[in-house]
Amino acid sequence: MSSSKQIIDQTEKYGAHNYKPKEVVFAYSDGCMVKNPEGDEFYDMLSAYSALNFGHRHPEIVQAAKDQLDNVTLSSRAFYNNILGEFCEQLCKMTGKNMVLPMNTGAEAVETAIKTARRWGSFVKKVEDGKQEIIVCSENFHGRTVTIISMSTDEVARKGYGPFTPGFKVVKYGCLEALEAAITPNTVGFLMEPVQGEAGVITPPEGFMKKAYELCKSKNVLFIADEVQTGFARTGTMFACEYEGFEPDVYIFGKALGGGIMPISAVVANDDILGVFTPGSHGSTFGGNPLACAVALKSMEILKRDDYPKQAREKGEYFKSKLKEIKNSKIVDIRGRGLLIGVEFDCNAAPYVKKLIENGVLAKETHDFTIRFAPPVVITYEQLDDACAKIKKAFEE
Ligand SMILES: *Cc1c(COP(=O)(O)O)cnc(C)c1O
Repeated sequence: MSSSKQIIDQTEKYGAHNYKPKEVVFAYSDGCMVKNPEGDEFYDMLSAYSALNFGHRHPEIVQAAKDQLDNVTLSSRAFYNNILGEFCEQLCKMTGKNMVLPMNTGAEAVETAIKTARRWGSFVKKVEDGKQEIIVCSENFHGRTVTIISMSTDEVARKGYGPFTPGFKVVKYGCLEALEAAITPNTVGFLMEPVQGEAGVITPPEGFMKKAYELCKSKNVLFIADEVQTGFARTGTMFACEYEGFEPDVYIFGKALGGGIMPISAVVANDDILGVFTPGSHGSTFGGNPLACAVALKSMEILKRDDYPKQAREKGEYFKSKLKEIKNSKIVDIRGRGLLIGVEFDCNAAPYVKKLIENGVLAKETHDFTIRFAPPVVITYEQLDDACAKIKKAFEE
């Protein structure tokens, strides 16, 4: 096998430079562990931004994929396939909603949710078509398409990509007054992340989401929860909205839904909302493909059977308490919910990430100052202890 250096050089030579990866090559992976071509082992504490909640290559999900590979992998939506219906039904049962629109990536699902809100606004709320407004939050991350970066406040993500899609208003994350002031008769949706992962693991003030949901309800505005990163147990509840005991009008899912094997995303809502789509009005060749549905179905089964939310909650508390024992005066905050934890420094965190990697722990800084720890939910307490010892070694001194 080529060396890490050869692989990195090749990737940098022929691949576009829209990322600057940490210099670790994944050549073999299993559960929480990855190995590079030289055989060095690492704990994966990023979990592909929560796409690997089940760990790498969960044996039952791999088996479900293999079985489906021997059966049927692709139908397109020109025809039915034997598993999409079951996928939709199970996702409905899990969320308490009654309709699913399957896509592939998180960004596609966000785009689909934007279309949903606009069409619902036009058809149901009777806002003049072209006047629909959607309210989003400062420091949001919803993906990379032109329309999605049109509502971003991150200049690095926007520079050079204009002209942008109109129809968005940005309010301060977690500020109820700002949200209320921004709502007009043309407002069709309010889109937020229950925990802002990319912004540095930021949670809104206690009670904000529920109040924002009630405000939206009273103004006939759809509350749209982007649970692409938080959904499916990551934050200690099946869905992060559950933490405040409410159900959003529209869920957006991605990442973990694919069991770490296939990209699959979905918008989930009731038929009074998702029913606005008619044949030909939206679609995706690969959306709802049998292979992705098979891994998603198995993933949902495991999430419930093995009570992943409880595991994330309890392991998250344990992990956080261990992190709080670390002595480093440059650490100013340790926060988060479940197994989505941010450690904020009062200085650039990149040198600490480098030390983590030298000690065998993979994590990455987000927005310079905060390191996000999000291990697979399947991590054992023994592995957490071992990883924490390595983190301590990297952070103390
Ligand atoms: C990752 C992410 C997305 C985009 O998902 P992709 O699959 O990368 O397109 C959208 N919203 C949130 C909150 C995310 O974390």
